[in-house]
Amino acid sequence: MTHGGIAAGRLGDLIACPECDALYRAVDVPSGARATCIRCHAVLIAPRRRAGMTVISLALASVVLVIGALWFPFLRIDTRGFRQEASLWDVATSFTDGLLLVLSVVVAAGIVVIPLLRAVLTLYTLTPVVFDRPPAVHARSAFAWPRRCAPGRWPRSLPSAVRSAW
Ligand SMILES: [Zn+2]
Repeated sequence: MTHGGIAAGRLGDLIACPECDALYRAVDVPSGARATCIRCHAVLIAPRRRAGMTVISLALASVVLVIGALWFPFLRIDTRGFRQEASLWDVATSFTDGLLLVLSVVVAAGIVVIPLLRAVLTLYTLTPVVFDRPPAVHARSAFAWPRRCAPGRWPRSLPSAVRSAW
């Protein structure tokens, strides 16, 4: 990465290190090379051939797997003629009243809604670009939102939300 005056360039050209928030000016990096943070050595840019198609494939697989997990039971107890099944949706919505309803909403959001939304927004953002079409109208904000809701950011805020609910 090259360092330059922030005021000299456009703000849209700046990228922040995801680990230490150091600012850099984005540059073209040849395929197979990597741009790393000088301060913490985190990888900032690592272009790979067909990376967009890989991300699209993984997002589609995520949608299919989450929808499948909603319908198909992941737990089945079958003994002496009695049979009990539970799908992810059954588990997520098992509490329907009182304070535990909040738990059901949080669990349903965490295992169903947010993963689906992240995958759909990723598809919305990357599909036109990978297929050499103009970017979607709201591609910039649609691309930023899934990163803000990344699972790694959940654990920091979830315990305090649970504590305040009790
Ligand atoms: Zn860094």
